Amino acid sequence: MLRPILKYGDRVLHEPARTVEAMTPEIDRLVGDMIETMYAAPGVGLAAPQVGLPLRIFVVDISIGNDPLALKVFINPEFVERDGVQLEEEGCLSVPGFNATVVRPSRAVLKGLDRAGNPQQHNATGLLARAFQHEMDHLDGTLFVDRLRGIKRDLIVRRIKKLTRAGKW
Ligand SMILES: [Zn+2]
Repeated sequence: MLRPILKYGDRVLHEPARTVEAMTPEIDRLVGDMIETMYAAPGVGLAAPQVGLPLRIFVVDISIGNDPLALKVFINPEFVERDGVQLEEEGCLSVPGFNATVVRPSRAVLKGLDRAGNPQQHNATGLLARAFQHEMDHLDGTLFVDRLRGIKRDLIVRRIKKLTRAGKW
């Protein structure tokens, strides 16, 4: 089932998400819906707060469905290691129409549970490392806009406020 994606300004997106206490059929259904919603958007990642549930779950597929092995589901993820620097253009399904260059570590090792509830660890570089970190930010209530500084950030926030007032956000 497709779930509506919340946009910048919705409270759930700006608050830290909670740990998943147990792998239930409801959690499995949510993960399935998140995958479907991510592919339909289409996007390379989606975190549970983006569909209104403040839970520490995200899905990522940098192939956007072209490589069946590229789909990653993380439940209660934690960083093990991060290093390096990369500077790339980034966007977000919750901030449609806006992009900005965001500085992030170029490598990230992440551990957590997979969809079946088994422990997993992934060593990611490049775009996958960026996607993991973008989704980890969502679980802490941070959007890429919050990582920008100065004029660039003010400009995006001001344009979103204007769209909101006009009923177009
Ligand atoms: Zn996002």
